[in-house]
Amino acid sequence: MSSADTRRNVGARFRNGGGTVKGFVQRVHSPHPSLNDSLEGELQDFLTDEDQLHTYDDLTKVNPVTPTTVLKCLQARYSVKVFYTHAGCTLVALNPFQPIPDLYSLDVMKEYHCAPQPKEFKPHIFIVAEEAYRNVRGQLEPVNQSLVVSGESGAGKTWTSRCLMKYYATVAASSSVVKSQNTVERIERRVLDSNPIMEAFGNACTLRNNNSSRFGKYIQLQLDRCQLLVGASVQTYLLEKTRVACPPDNERNFHIFYQMMKGATDEQRKEWKMPRGQRFTWLPKSEKTLEEDCFHETVEAMVHLGINAERQRQIFRILAGILQLGNVNFSSSADESQLCNLDEQSKDFSQRAAELLCVPAEELQTCLRVRTLKAGKQSVLKPCPQAECSMRRDCLAKVIYAQLFEWLVTFINNSICADESMWCNFIGVLDVYGFECFHINNLEQLCINYANEKLQQHFVAHYLRAQQEEYVSEGLQWSFVKYQDNQSCLDLIEGSPVSVFSLLNEESRLNRVSDTKTFRTRLEKELCGNANISWDKFSKEPHFTVAHYAGKVNYQIQGMVEKNKDPVPPELISLLQKSDNPLLHQIFTDKETENPTNKGLSKVTVVSKFKNSLESLMRILHTTTPHYTRCIKPNPDCKPLTFQKEEVIMQLEACGIVETIHISAAGFPIRIPFKDFMQRYGLIEKYSNSMSGSCCVDVETDSNGILRQEVEKLLSVVLHKAFDLDSEKHNSWVHCGRTKVFLTQSMLDLLEDQRKKIL
Ligand code: ADP
Ligand code: MG
Repeated sequence: MSSADTRRNVGARFRNGGGTVKGFVQRVHSPHPSLNDSLEGELQDFLTDEDQLHTYDDLTKVNPVTPTTVLKCLQARYSVKVFYTHAGCTLVALNPFQPIPDLYSLDVMKEYHCAPQPKEFKPHIFIVAEEAYRNVRGQLEPVNQSLVVSGESGAGKTWTSRCLMKYYATVAASSSVVKSQNTVERIERRVLDSNPIMEAFGNACTLRNNNSSRFGKYIQLQLDRCQLLVGASVQTYLLEKTRVACPPDNERNFHIFYQMMKGATDEQRKEWKMPRGQRFTWLPKSEKTLEEDCFHETVEAMVHLGINAERQRQIFRILAGILQLGNVNFSSSADESQLCNLDEQSKDFSQRAAELLCVPAEELQTCLRVRTLKAGKQSVLKPCPQAECSMRRDCLAKVIYAQLFEWLVTFINNSICADESMWCNFIGVLDVYGFECFHINNLEQLCINYANEKLQQHFVAHYLRAQQEEYVSEGLQWSFVKYQDNQSCLDLIEGSPVSVFSLLNEESRLNRVSDTKTFRTRLEKELCGNANISWDKFSKEPHFTVAHYAGKVNYQIQGMVEKNKDPVPPELISLLQKSDNPLLHQIFTDKETENPTNKGLSKVTVVSKFKNSLESLMRILHTTTPHYTRCIKPNPDCKPLTFQKEEVIMQLEACGIVETIHISAAGFPIRIPFKDFMQRYGLIEKYSNSMSGSCCVDVETDSNGILRQEVEKLLSVVLHKAFDLDSEKHNSWVHCGRTKVFLTQSMLDLLEDQRKKIL
């Protein structure tokens, strides 16, 4: 049974029994007086009290928090079109999959911005935005903030990030202007305009989301001394560049290609060699998306950011060149020592590709079909077999696209980043891919899930800190709570001296022919001591299984080392450096000067690069105050207002909400104010006292201090009855805080038992 299953069963326990107790605890912590009013009398089961569930603005108030109660609460809220709910220090955002009028209007922004206590308003993403904004001021000194938005594909991360950016562009507008070339723009406009560009180049229509971001993004909004927005900077992670040459079945390529196809003028079509009706292999057709209509919006955003007409022309010619490349096919020649054949059509397409990329046509054809082997100072030319030719073609497209994307991000940064002297604080918005577990998982998923482990560790540390604060403010020692975090899983993936990453890098460096086999053998041999990794020895496809905090994932070993190497044949780079397209020439020549040994493009492995960028992100996050928003996709088909419990619970597990429930359970998940405690259990003491002749305190009129004494007395009666003098058990089951009693579930059961005996 997986840990996720185990946790699901925790929920089942509450479903099947103990309803009355839950009803009571729920009521005690209810923020709604109507629920507290009926404390005495028949205690209804919390789960059946569904009429009121939607009124709970904070899931942690549903006490004790279980996966089941949390789920029911979210469902009840969703059914009355309430999409945001707090979960302690986290905000849960359910995707409505339909526009909600006025939910994000300017007036609503202002309301939250001007509210003395925004948290008293209905839960909303603007509360998170406003809290972070006010927190920047800090109590003693200004503190940078980060807003971490997570969730699976289609859950609403990018939407939420855009909302946050719009919020700050509105409430913190500095209205300062930026001039570049012939344009003068307000900085807020520019920052917002970076979105359509990055989405056009980095998003695609997938099976799970019509506008799925195929990269991770961390944007820092820079604030000046007066807390006005004066600039921003963007960092991107792991663009899914394979999509350019191999869009997955029934999915699409990046939006920008479709935008060009649909939005081009006749003149542009001619220039891009894209006549109407021309089919491109790399542009599979699938359901239409709105995003393909946005060509003019993308171009306009480019203009606003200062990308002039000539640069745009260079960019679009490069993209058109990539499309032509996709239609070039190779067939084996009868004699292996000869070059692969290109039929007439493919010759035409490669000719057009060469024209658009501004490289010599002959040389392009040669580069795709001939490998240069270096033996000492001598070079030997060797014709590539058909499969390798196709691989070289795909590789060319991928490297061009990835470098173009990187150039765009750098350009955007130059255009929106404020001078260092102008800003003093930032609010960072992190929009990264959530935990992924597909039928087949490879290096991409390993990297993504590794990032999620890192973020989860950061989240848990933050959550524990918040819990700790409550314990301390109630005068309890925190050390009672023992919680094992996910460090061992991180050690397995990235640790030293031996980990999945270290073995992967070593195998990539050694460049063996049979790397899949040796990688597999080494994993089994060198990591067998780690409990987080396992193998199915009988499986046909070699894979390893990692037990992540969110569940187990099988990773395919085949191809992983090669993906990690991500090799680019050097002939392709030299070809691109010869391009007469100034942009193409620049992006490949700059790389070379930056890395004289050509490490930038071929030698740094994928996992090393990713690990480094993630570590620098984590270093930044550690210096900020985090705010977490967990986006949830209530159904897999993106249907409006449709809530599927199984889908939601799986995501609550994957985003760590269930984990936090687990953490609370490791401590004292039930907290009951003294007065309510005495109201329910006072009769136990009254009963004991009546046997010995003393009388009970009047809970309605008494002060907290006396109440506390009464509670302690009562607890000692109950505990002595149960455990006699075993004080260790007393401490591990219950604690009296300053205003509340902190209980474990077992203690609550014990109290209920005794109460029932008296009734
Ligand atoms: P993610 O970035 O998590 O993959 P997106 O932010 O792209 O997901 O959201 C997917 C789609 O869901 C959006 O294109 C939009 O149609 C819809 N959506 C997300 N959040 C909201 C919201 N708060 N209100 C209305 N529609 C939303
Ligand atoms: Mg997205």
